[in-house]
Amino acid sequence: MTAFFRLLARNRLALAGLIVMTVVVILALLTPLLPLADPDVTDTGNRFQPPFSEGALLGTDHLGRDLLSRLMWGTRLSLAVGFAAAIAAATIGAAIGIIAGFYGGRTDNIIMRGVDMLMAFPYILLALAIVAALGPGLLNALIAVAAVNVPFFARNIRGITVGIAHKEFVDAARLAGLSNARIILTEILPNVVPVIVIAMSTTIGWMILETAGLSFLGLGSQPPQADLGSMLGEARSALITNPHTSIVPGVMILIIVMSINLLGDGIRDALDPRLKSGALSRPMAATNVDRKETPPAATGRGLLEVQALETQFHVKNRVYKAVGGVDLHVEPGECLGIIGESGSGKSVTALSVMGLVASPPGVITGGAVRYEGEDLVGAPYRKLRSMRGKNVAYIFQDPLATLHPLYKVGDQLIEAIRSHRPIGKDEGRKTAIELLKSVRIPNPEKRISDYPHELSGGMRQRVGIAMALANEPDIIIADEPTTALDVTVQAQILSLLDDLRRSRGLAIVFITHDFGVVAQLCDRVAVMYAGRIIEEGTTAEVLENPMHPYTARLMACVPELGEGKRRLEAIRGLPPVVDKLPPGCAFADRCERVQDVCRQGEIPLEGEEGRAVRCLFPVTEPPPADAKPAQSQEAAE
Ligand code: ADP
Ligand code: MG
Repeated sequence: MTAFFRLLARNRLALAGLIVMTVVVILALLTPLLPLADPDVTDTGNRFQPPFSEGALLGTDHLGRDLLSRLMWGTRLSLAVGFAAAIAAATIGAAIGIIAGFYGGRTDNIIMRGVDMLMAFPYILLALAIVAALGPGLLNALIAVAAVNVPFFARNIRGITVGIAHKEFVDAARLAGLSNARIILTEILPNVVPVIVIAMSTTIGWMILETAGLSFLGLGSQPPQADLGSMLGEARSALITNPHTSIVPGVMILIIVMSINLLGDGIRDALDPRLKSGALSRPMAATNVDRKETPPAATGRGLLEVQALETQFHVKNRVYKAVGGVDLHVEPGECLGIIGESGSGKSVTALSVMGLVASPPGVITGGAVRYEGEDLVGAPYRKLRSMRGKNVAYIFQDPLATLHPLYKVGDQLIEAIRSHRPIGKDEGRKTAIELLKSVRIPNPEKRISDYPHELSGGMRQRVGIAMALANEPDIIIADEPTTALDVTVQAQILSLLDDLRRSRGLAIVFITHDFGVVAQLCDRVAVMYAGRIIEEGTTAEVLENPMHPYTARLMACVPELGEGKRRLEAIRGLPPVVDKLPPGCAFADRCERVQDVCRQGEIPLEGEEGRAVRCLFPVTEPPPADAKPAQSQEAAE
């Protein structure tokens, strides 16, 4: 709750709205206690007194009534009617929406068609019809305004409820034997309340306006009772001669509706967790670049070379150093493995290559990414776009999330091809079928018109691979492509990738957290930890003689066939959070060989050509004489 208010307060406009609204509401509440003239006493001798005249701060109206007093009482009434209408509309609308969404089927159909019919009427016309039927009066105006807003709430809440009613936790509640009423009250309602609040806060201003509108037409509050709308209505005839009588209630309506709307927007933003993280701010087409230093010179190594790459996330006043100086290179036709625990920066490294890290909050703050020697960091978007998919293609972990659910897989493949070369419909279809064949999808002529959800996980990932192959890239970056699949399917996908690589001369950057997969596929491997490479070498060397204690521990986590019984040891502790990296070795707190020097200053990635480790006391050397068991920071404190 405090977080909510802090967020709200950060939004200047919403804060201003909140303050103004609070003042108005407090004044409205205090009105009966204030020393005001009677709002309804006429004094025709003193009609149309200008503002700041004796005894009438805001002047008087056409019957000589004190405008200030009428304004205060009128505001009080308008606010009360507006809020009451909003609460009534929200309660009834939400109840209808929840029932329709929860029960579905015929209930839903009957209710929602009724709601649709109400919505088909012009708004104001419907309100007028209701008042005409019930007769003029403030209460009837309230009923009319609430009634015309019920469909809006019902539609909104029904949509949300339909989404929730099929979630697992609701099924679980059903299986637990809870009654429908209990499920609605304890499982559904708490999840829709924020939406109700948001819908209310953004429509309350509108309802106050509508009520004022009805009063303006003489259908709401009846004389002599003042509300803002009726004050405007009565002042209408003197609009030119005595404008202050209209301006006073008009300005008040403006103030109230403005501040409520600003506040409502602020509440909506503060309640939406996605806005907080910046996830809803539109990401740029390419990652932001803010390099302080000039990028390192080209060395000509590899087809793709990543040099001292630094990618950070700037969230509020924190800086997450997700990638802190990574050097990599891939030769044509080579398979490079990148391995590391979850959160070690593998994906961010991979996405930085083509400027695909979401910005904001992502920023590339240093280094270079060279494709055939040319630096791509900060390259114009057109350049990056022409290369994405054509030179460097990606395969991601979850193909269900990367394929569009509403298009047939064939159409998505054709679209991928057409984004880089113009081809006709028939040719596109032919190419798509060939692509599906090349990733060993049986019966591709049929599968091409399947939707993603009609395929199994393994098949979907094959489509993902086919998509990556669509424009015959030189490099495929595969980010944990088999993590979501079961072991047998994983093996098939790996052998498919291996074949494709050999038959097409593809270079593959294969990201994984599984040494078994690396052993099967990769020529070389780089081990990442806390955003940096801590060891690299050929797969055989790294697997046989891991040098970094982390690599050694990571490999001890892999079960091996025929090894007999062996304890699979998890690594104690957690990786460091990348916004507070310790000086020296990031693994120090979890390392058994840690010495004091490990925590002091930068440790370089050292070794001869192609085989390097970022460790002062690698495992291949005898442990330092005074080695003591590792002590984690927490344990030491
Ligand atoms: P992995 O190695 O599992 O692929 P990632 O590259 O996805 O790890 O993430 C690396 C680090 O970057 C993580 O510590 C993560 O917390 C951080 N990170 C990733 N995305 C964001 C983001 N949008 N905002 C802040 N931090 C992020
Ligand atoms: Mg990842």
